[in-house]
Amino acid sequence: MKTEATLRDEIVEVGYALFSRGYTHGSTGNISVPLEDGWLVTPTGTSLGSLDPGRLSKLNLGGKLVSGDQPTKEAFLHRSIYEKRKSAGAVVHLHSTHSVALSCLPNTDPQDVLPKLTPYAHMQCGRVAMVPYFRPGDAALAEAVALAAQSHWSILLAHHGPVVAGKSLKAAMYAVEELEETAKLALLLHSQIMETLTKSQLNDLEQHFPPWRLD
Ligand SMILES: [Zn+2]
Repeated sequence: MKTEATLRDEIVEVGYALFSRGYTHGSTGNISVPLEDGWLVTPTGTSLGSLDPGRLSKLNLGGKLVSGDQPTKEAFLHRSIYEKRKSAGAVVHLHSTHSVALSCLPNTDPQDVLPKLTPYAHMQCGRVAMVPYFRPGDAALAEAVALAAQSHWSILLAHHGPVVAGKSLKAAMYAVEELEETAKLALLLHSQIMETLTKSQLNDLEQHFPPWRLD
């Protein structure tokens, strides 16, 4: 079990890694990690590129702020996922451009929005659920995310961005990056005829690399 100090440093490292490579912009995006007595989440109005480990928001199991700056207003997204995914070791939420663009396309499958273009996306993200648009702060969004999290590790919020859980913070970071890069591929190919992986290729992948193997 990692110490709280180590987890704080990892959140700062992952935030910087995502920001410096353009996966998040402005003060968008947030990261959380569960602790035995609550959880750590990135503060509101802060760039993921310049987090301070000592000022991360620490919430108790009831969601009340125990120490640090005010938490992101999107902390409820993370909470909804931890309620359903007890083995999650981290949640990363971004407003990454290509994933948001994919979430604006019509006629996508709400149970599996990401086209199966490469094995890596299927192995790292599993099936990606799509949650419809809700006004920011709408309590119904928390319920919709909790419902999707019952059966998915990776969720795409329409007109908003991805929320991805992983067994560890690194696993969640790799999965959300894979989702973003695959969304980019899907958009590159969007107006063309795509050949996706076949059902038997997917079954073969799941036998050798189950999608829940996120480490
Ligand atoms: Zn957001």
